[in-house]
Amino acid sequence: MTTFLYENPVFLEHEVPEGHPERPDRLKALNLALEHPNFSDLKRIEAKKASEDLVLLAHPEEHLAAVRRAIPEEGLNHFEADTCASPLSLDAALTGIGGATAAVDAVFTGETDNAFVAARPPGHHAEKNKAMGFCLFNTVAIAARYAQKVHGAERVAIVDWDVHHGNGTQDIFWDDPSVLFCSTHQMPLYPGTGAKDETGIKGNVVNAPLSPNMGSEHFREAFRSRVLSALTNFRPDFILISAGFDAHHRDPLAQINLVAEDFDWATGRLHEIADRSAGNRMVSLLEGGYDLQGLAESAGLHILRLMRG
Ligand SMILES: [Zn+2]
Repeated sequence: MTTFLYENPVFLEHEVPEGHPERPDRLKALNLALEHPNFSDLKRIEAKKASEDLVLLAHPEEHLAAVRRAIPEEGLNHFEADTCASPLSLDAALTGIGGATAAVDAVFTGETDNAFVAARPPGHHAEKNKAMGFCLFNTVAIAARYAQKVHGAERVAIVDWDVHHGNGTQDIFWDDPSVLFCSTHQMPLYPGTGAKDETGIKGNVVNAPLSPNMGSEHFREAFRSRVLSALTNFRPDFILISAGFDAHHRDPLAQINLVAEDFDWATGRLHEIADRSAGNRMVSLLEGGYDLQGLAESAGLHILRLMRG
């Protein structure tokens, strides 16, 4: 397997208030973990800033304009209590989209088998018309639409194992059966969506909620019985992962008790699906994960499994 990793120093320049969990130190912790010799074969690429047009693959013009207007010349500006913009936030978000779409290009042209995009801010809470939950644009949704439009992907699967439900991604693909959206997450928890009976208009949304204090066994059972079975039936020709690592037991924002090895396991299962129907094509995007040690260990094992197949 070959794995590309997309990064850019601008991802550290999206600023947040003191004490905010979605902070630049998250990427610094991941970078430290990637210094291990295990990662010497990882090809690290500087992500380039995308043109604003790509935002329109998943959002209306009004949303792009609202984010543009919200960017302050200095200091911070708040969209809602937890979601803010600093002077370079639009550059960071567009560079995340640039990394994600370059990763899609690289897997479809066969330059690499798979890729990880180590960007912030995250994206899966951003709805068509709303920045929320630390997210400005829904990068994974834009990447899915880009794969369809530019590379002719017909059956894109998005697997979201962030501990929070990917309400934004669900919102965007609610009536679009060309994309299968599968999510494991804690419930009840922010943002409140993600019940089992939320299935999308055409049944292309699969939610597997977990109760607080559940751990590896329940996660793996839900992943097997809900997510993997839906993927097997759907036969995706491309798999995107909304890779949040906040279901780790050390994470301060939730009460699911996964260990880093669970992310290695889940990545391995997705490899099997990708091998069967998607020519190994997978692109994984960093979403949440707020305990630095839990994030570094979990994302490290996830990336290592992407590299090793
Ligand atoms: Zn999360």
